Amino acid sequence: MINNQSEKLKVVVTGASRGIGRAIADNLSASCIVVGTATTEERARQISDTSGGAIIGLALDLSSRDNIDSFWTKACDALGAEPDILINNAGITDDTLFLRMKDESFDRVLQVNLMSCFSLSRRALKSMVRKRWGRVINISSVVASTGNVGQANYVAAKAGLEGLTRALAHEVAARGVTVNAIAPGFIVTDMTDVLPESTIAAILSKIPAKRMGDSAEVAALVRYLVSSESGYMTGQVLHLNGGMYMA
Ligand code: NAP
Repeated sequence: MINNQSEKLKVVVTGASRGIGRAIADNLSASCIVVGTATTEERARQISDTSGGAIIGLALDLSSRDNIDSFWTKACDALGAEPDILINNAGITDDTLFLRMKDESFDRVLQVNLMSCFSLSRRALKSMVRKRWGRVINISSVVASTGNVGQANYVAAKAGLEGLTRALAHEVAARGVTVNAIAPGFIVTDMTDVLPESTIAAILSKIPAKRMGDSAEVAALVRYLVSSESGYMTGQVLHLNGGMYMA
């Protein structure tokens, strides 16, 4: 059990079909009721199937704001209540040098990584504030602090997400709701699998721990942040990067 309520907590994890989101959903589903999302119905079904029903898979494509209302209704129906915990994890990259970056690429990366978190958090916080307990966790990135070549869209989105985290935390702290962000460094997932060997070698040379991180390590930190023991921690960006960036 994560807090001292007798009922199981209800959780929404976006982007739970693979990578970090899946590790978070797997971890929390041991003691909570969890909805995890994928971009298509087929992938959503796979979440339910591969978790043996421990995670309820639902489709959600965050590249359009229009999908969010109907998803939220379905998620609340599936959970049997409004969620107590929202993990804004889904994210995309679309890297290219700034002078070549198209408006569509900038807009899409901002929509999926930042605007969607605004829309989902607004829905989630209403009932959390009413219940006087809730947790919102936004998955940012180390590059929000360091910047990165070829990632102006992604860096802007993640830096915005960290600002959103602090602003929301201020507004809901007195109601027992915490809002925090985790900024992972390089974690082994499909997102980093596409990087060329030379880039990976260059990254590893800058990580004091001399390895990339594991999704389960991010999930373990999420588990702490959703617990009652973390109730005094809010508005923070927690860095998890093998020492690559020491804030
Ligand atoms: P990943 O393996 O690429 O998985 C991405 C997840 O997001 C998938 O579940 C995917 O669903 C979903 N998704 C993709 N496009 C979406 C859209 N338009 N609408 C809704 N969901 C969408 O990514 P990851 O590496 O686990 O990253 C998870 C989060 O951590 C992201 O926010 C990322 O920016 C952040 N992060 C990752 C790293 C890293 O090194 N991996 C480092 C720092 C931060 P489908 O399977 O249906 O496509």
